[in-house]
Amino acid sequence: QSGQPLRRLESKSACPYCGTGCGVIIEHDGQHITGVRGDPDHPANFGQLCSKGSNLHLTSRGDDRAREPLQHQRGSENWSPLRWPEALMQMAKVWAEIIHTQGPQAVAFYVSGQLSTEDYYVVNKLAKGFIGTNHIDTNSRLCMASAVTGYKSSLGMDSVPCGYEDFDSADCLFIVGANVAYAHPILFRRIEAAKLRRPELQIIVVDPRRTPTAAIADIFLPIQPGTDVALFHGMLHILIWEGFLNRAFIETHTEGWEELKARVQNYTPQWVAETCAIPVADLRAAAIAFGQAPAALSLWCQGLNQSSHGTDKNVALINLHLATGQIGRPGAGPFSLTGQPNAMGGRETGGMPALLPGHREIANPEHRAEIAALWGVESLHPQPGYTAVPLFQALERGEIETVWITCTNPVLSMPDQTQVQRALEKARLVVLQDSFLGTETAAYADLLLPAASWGEREALVTNSERRITHLRTAVPAPGSALPDWMIFRDFAFILGDALDALNHPLPSAKDASWAARAQRMFNFADSTSIFLEYRECTRGRDLDITGLDFSVLDNQGPQQWPYPEGAVAGQARLYADGVFPTPSGRARFRDPEYLGVAEEIDARYPLRLTTGRLRDHWHSMSRTGKVAALFASDAEAFLEIQPDDARRLNLDNDMLAKVSSRRGNNILRVRVNADLQPGLLFAPMHFGRRYAPAALCNQLTLAAIDPISGEPEFKHTAVQVEPVLFP
Ligand code: SF4
Repeated sequence: QSGQPLRRLESKSACPYCGTGCGVIIEHDGQHITGVRGDPDHPANFGQLCSKGSNLHLTSRGDDRAREPLQHQRGSENWSPLRWPEALMQMAKVWAEIIHTQGPQAVAFYVSGQLSTEDYYVVNKLAKGFIGTNHIDTNSRLCMASAVTGYKSSLGMDSVPCGYEDFDSADCLFIVGANVAYAHPILFRRIEAAKLRRPELQIIVVDPRRTPTAAIADIFLPIQPGTDVALFHGMLHILIWEGFLNRAFIETHTEGWEELKARVQNYTPQWVAETCAIPVADLRAAAIAFGQAPAALSLWCQGLNQSSHGTDKNVALINLHLATGQIGRPGAGPFSLTGQPNAMGGRETGGMPALLPGHREIANPEHRAEIAALWGVESLHPQPGYTAVPLFQALERGEIETVWITCTNPVLSMPDQTQVQRALEKARLVVLQDSFLGTETAAYADLLLPAASWGEREALVTNSERRITHLRTAVPAPGSALPDWMIFRDFAFILGDALDALNHPLPSAKDASWAARAQRMFNFADSTSIFLEYRECTRGRDLDITGLDFSVLDNQGPQQWPYPEGAVAGQARLYADGVFPTPSGRARFRDPEYLGVAEEIDARYPLRLTTGRLRDHWHSMSRTGKVAALFASDAEAFLEIQPDDARRLNLDNDMLAKVSSRRGNNILRVRVNADLQPGLLFAPMHFGRRYAPAALCNQLTLAAIDPISGEPEFKHTAVQVEPVLFP
């Protein structure tokens, strides 16, 4: 290209950060990404981008990009380059030996909501279909697993019934445990615009902290962390007494009402207000605003999901919609926001240990038979695999001997980090597949496989409102980095050879060898071939996309599922006919009891710590940590503390404080913040060793999980705090 003026090119894509799924136009010169702007045609953002999205072009290159496979000597800084065949062969040899001697359940995968739909499909086929292990979980377990189990329990299927256009027609927005202003900034702008256009729009915000989202609330309920089920039951109690039920909807479209009615009888407004530590008048006002609204839309995120009772919280919130008939109409419905760009795509393709593609269940024999037939395998293992926390516990016990971690940083993001570190130290082989070097997890890896990143590969993703976007390749990946699905495919080929070398028994005579089986099952040349196979898995299911192909997505723009054969557009809203995908066709009221938090405060650990996101950083900062401008608002990790608590503990702004829980401690700089209620502390979850060596907030958090969803309780840890005094 020397002497030739570079031509500015553009490629359509989507932002790789939050589940809003904003459309992005990548500006590039064919080799490097030079700029980004919002895609004016994308219905998620209509051309807008937040601070993170508008700086994306500054994150795509850097010294820390993984460019070639690397072998690592644990405990050292020695990384030696390998060629792809060498790297995959080394890995396949160990994996084949473990599979041959210990069985397939001794190997595990831990993947990410940032993988594409194609990646998710291929890695699940590799794990569940080829190897025969269901131990494959995703970091989406940490953010939306409770919404999945909540939807399935109440509505019969993991299907978000609403879309962003419902923000524009809702009369009441009930925002619970979601700091939309920081975690989904473009959606927050849409909410602000709706409020400006229609001041009568009632916004209720429920959050233990007075967040920037709460700043636009008409009613703000600063509940005690973990008391959401009591709040929702209390609101339902008031809705019953005040006559706001939709009896026709309850009778025609639901079941389980009498049990729930009996349950909420004891959740009197006075008791609930005391339990949640809010004024009874505010509780009543919120219930009445919800009940009176012609259309009420609930939005929630980690505040409900990251809980040892996350499923209960989800179903108790959905109860409010079913009792008032607030579902399946414009502006009405329970809408869980996803944290990551393709958490939804992972759910669709079966990217969790209890799932199979097309919203099928491992535990369901018919579902297993359907996918086994589509994959051309004899059978699938019937037992769901481990979710994230038990998976790393099994690794520490030695029950799982090796783990392949893809596009995520569990040493920073998992609760009770020291347990995760112990597990990785114990593992026989830790493989890390990532686009970036130097994450906290890399220190524990034996092998690093370089993955192509955003803008460097074709991909499909599904955002929070079920909308599928086609991301195009803008520039080549650096070095020999490959798309994740291609690494999984190539590994299958080499693992086949390694299993044959050990004479590992084949399940049947269908294939002449493991190598032949791999060639048959992973005959994927490109994204299109993967999509066409996955698409078939959705036929006749709630998420049927048999009418979609890449040309429809490119010509008509991103589409919401379902989009079955013969459709001309995606479906904006589900359950408009009042028919739910349950055996009876009725939605189910659930009646959980309020159970509190997993680790209550006591005399030794008398304060409550909650963790969360900042506006300008993303996860463990592999990308946002490269952009100086994004440090402007928050340059380092910190601890927010309420003024009276700060005074009592002799703490003030900018002092250092030691925060301790039963599992570890952090040193954090103090910010006194009157927006917290007494006894509550807040620390951001982003900062890792590179930015704050003594401030890994998940050293404090506990590994208690929801018994149904397996999601950990990040939102409440009992801690003590003391000043760090220098002599
Ligand atoms: Fe990206 Fe989310 Fe910001 Fe949109 S709102 S630009 S998807 S981080």
